[in-house]
Amino acid sequence: LFDTIVARYPDNEALVVRHQQRDQKPLRYTYRQLQQEVNRCARALLALGVKKGQRVGIWSPNCAEWCITQFATAKIGAILVNVNPSYRLHELEYAMTQSGCSWLVSADVFKSSNYTEMLYQLVPGLAESQPGQLQCELLPELRGIITLSQETKAGMLRWQDMFSHTDSVSDEALSRAQAELNFDDPINIQYTSGTTGFPKGATLSHHNILNNGFFVAESMGFTAEDRLVIPVPLYHCFGMVMGNLGCVTHGATMIYSGDGFDPLAVLQTVAEEKATALYGVPTMFIAELNHPEFDQFDLSTLRTGIMAGSPCPIEVMKKVIERMHMAGVQIAYGMTETSPVSLQTGSHDPLEKRVGSVGRTQPHLENKIIGPDGSLMPRGEIGELCTRGYSVMLKYWNNPKATEDSIDQAGWMHTGDLAVMDEEGYVRIVGRSKDMIIRGGENVYPREIEEFLYTHPDVADVQVTGVPDEKYGEEIIAWIKPAPGHSPSEDDIKGFCQGKIAHFKIPRYIKFVDTFPMTVTGKIQKFRMREISTEELG
Ligand code: ATP
Ligand code: MG
Repeated sequence: LFDTIVARYPDNEALVVRHQQRDQKPLRYTYRQLQQEVNRCARALLALGVKKGQRVGIWSPNCAEWCITQFATAKIGAILVNVNPSYRLHELEYAMTQSGCSWLVSADVFKSSNYTEMLYQLVPGLAESQPGQLQCELLPELRGIITLSQETKAGMLRWQDMFSHTDSVSDEALSRAQAELNFDDPINIQYTSGTTGFPKGATLSHHNILNNGFFVAESMGFTAEDRLVIPVPLYHCFGMVMGNLGCVTHGATMIYSGDGFDPLAVLQTVAEEKATALYGVPTMFIAELNHPEFDQFDLSTLRTGIMAGSPCPIEVMKKVIERMHMAGVQIAYGMTETSPVSLQTGSHDPLEKRVGSVGRTQPHLENKIIGPDGSLMPRGEIGELCTRGYSVMLKYWNNPKATEDSIDQAGWMHTGDLAVMDEEGYVRIVGRSKDMIIRGGENVYPREIEEFLYTHPDVADVQVTGVPDEKYGEEIIAWIKPAPGHSPSEDDIKGFCQGKIAHFKIPRYIKFVDTFPMTVTGKIQKFRMREISTEELG
């Protein structure tokens, strides 16, 4: 597919990479230039002995090499393993051993000498080895590490030096490797966000992710004219599939606003690159909208985008439409295990559906809501959401038990999310089954209380979770980020709730905070909030 798109739009801008240092000029690639880089990298990987089905890890923030590695590994049938750039030593070790990587492409993630030390610590003998010849007991499959760092590090192969090997691989050899690919071969292992515990390695095929990227961009009406700003990490399917593959399947432009999330950089990128679309999780949009320099940027070229990954407060959605000009902004729901998107609103959907639901089932997929006994729930009643179709992952890598627990005999992926489907097929996510609070026998959905507290003028952001309680089983705690310049009191907040929401839903505890415990993808880890609050409340 990549080559077909290149043939169709050779001179379209494919990729723009902006740097965190504003004085550095952005890198720009047309589709033809990107193809040259991808082919060069694919040949270099073949020359290094990478074979179909072998795992190649990438541990790096967003950068051009990330994108190039993604398409190069797909071309030769290697399985790209996305490693979260904020992983530290033991998490990196987990991902690499769990997936059995043969090579790791890695950036100087922390911009400090720590990075090299960490790799030397992880891979004993690395510094003394020749790239490609590595023998390591802990990581028996690992042959070497490719570094994106400019400096030469003992034992590692610099990205630019990798290309000195490409000549030993002919174009025919590359074509032969490509001819061996099957649509349902695994090409990607993506670890889930770790919102509810340890990340699991969702194993995805060409068919899974390419189609999902295509359909996601279709529902936004993407064409080769579109320019999408991707501030979300590529390591996650939001960036790599919905972002990169959504663009590439349409000949559109991928724009990386920097190597980490910075609201100012995003605003600047949208304005300077005349972007038409923008992605983000709700907390990112909130940070952009609240930025003191927000009004200085012309965002009028924006028309659409996607807010996904976690529940989107209605108030935020309205502001994104009005103040960021994203009239077509959509909500998407998905999970890594389903490539990711399975439900999405459309630009044709009325606003109340776009704020009140996560849309309807994506083309060629099925969704259903089931009760605890597995039977279909009537429309309008809460149950577990299940998804079936082309986008359901092949398996969890090396974890048959977890695979069996989540994909049933009939092919349904059990999402662990509670949801309701209305008569027209629109689905509303109520929360995760694990996050539901049971207070004195009443089921309380944090989302409902969060939506309500957002309407308080002094509240910028809020998260609600349960904490163990002797009397009621669980009590409710709200973590509140006050709006800039405001300092509401606990009584204020509780008074605001009185008479407006049921008494048993009024948070017993209020905690004012600056940040929430989050994953690198910007998702709030309620299990951590629960742990922290439980400890603090003794
Ligand atoms: P882990 O499975 O490791 O605990 P995770 O489930 O957060 O982490 P992802 O696959 O990145 O990992 O996220 C999928 C989950 O995100 C969904 O199961 C759902 O709970 C939540 N989610 C995604 N989109 C939305 C949305 N639009 N509204 C509400 N929740 C969403
Ligand atoms: Mg999950």
